Amino acid sequence: MNKIKPHTLLLAEPRGFCAGVVRAIEVINHLLESEGPPIYSYHEIVHNKFIVENFKKRGVIFTENIIEVPKKSRIVFSAHGISPLVMQEAKKRKLRIIDATCPLVTKVHLETKKAARDGYDILLVGHRGHDEVEGTLGEAPTKTTVIDSIDEANNVSINSEKVFVVTQTTLSVDDTHEIIDTINQKFPNAEIRNDICYATTNRQAAVKELAKKADMILVVGSPNSSNSVRLMEHAKSSGAVAYRIEGIEEIDESWYQNVGVIGLTAGASVPDELLEPIINDLMQRGVKTIDTISVAQETIEFKPPDNLPVPKRNLTQ
Ligand code: SF4
Repeated sequence: MNKIKPHTLLLAEPRGFCAGVVRAIEVINHLLESEGPPIYSYHEIVHNKFIVENFKKRGVIFTENIIEVPKKSRIVFSAHGISPLVMQEAKKRKLRIIDATCPLVTKVHLETKKAARDGYDILLVGHRGHDEVEGTLGEAPTKTTVIDSIDEANNVSINSEKVFVVTQTTLSVDDTHEIIDTINQKFPNAEIRNDICYATTNRQAAVKELAKKADMILVVGSPNSSNSVRLMEHAKSSGAVAYRIEGIEEIDESWYQNVGVIGLTAGASVPDELLEPIINDLMQRGVKTIDTISVAQETIEFKPPDNLPVPKRNLTQ
């Protein structure tokens, strides 16, 4: 018999959308309104199934292969960034490009490019095959080695004094410290940039605080969203029972058994509208208290890409 029922909901702050995701989504919304479909997106604009499906319904075509895009089409590069080879091919096809790469990812590309130019061998700490890592790797493919684990950091061999380390923006803060420590021991003179972004850092810190108080934590986010998966791992490694879900439909009733305090957070690509039904449902189950566990207030905004076209209606006003 269930002795305890859900009575308190703790919301992590910050949670959900970051500035890079807001910018990328606004770019597509703007193009849909000003030019209409079809608009191509190279890769998922952000890693969230709900957002991608909604855009598909409105005429956005997502592609993993730039040569499938008809010449002169409108194309948006996703928040995760692209390799220079993709940019080259897009220009060759005379695609009308809007680059919605998050400025914090662009910063890693610039660091990588400069380090390669300055004669460094580069270690890119990140998840092999992730869109962002593939894009950064493309800046200096012959000079860069991807490091995906402590084992790989231990085994990497470089015959040079000049080692430069960059990271994917959405990694686990804790795991990355361990990998960087390992690299540091092997290459004491390595120049190290920790590029994990503010949004990833803040959301991980908040979920750790949540884990101190919640009996169970729900993390909303898609399985291919690196920062969402890291949130679930952080919740678990902080001692909480945690589940990652796309939305309310994936919640298993049995998770609520003997759970009094529930924590809720969401990855950086998750809209609030996926959290609202969960909160409403919990209130119907008897949750009376909703509190926020806050570790940071985020006020960062990124300006839109410079070449975003002016809506036609504004031109005629
Ligand atoms: Fe940019 Fe970080 Fe958001 Fe990725 S998670 S889009 S790097 S702010």
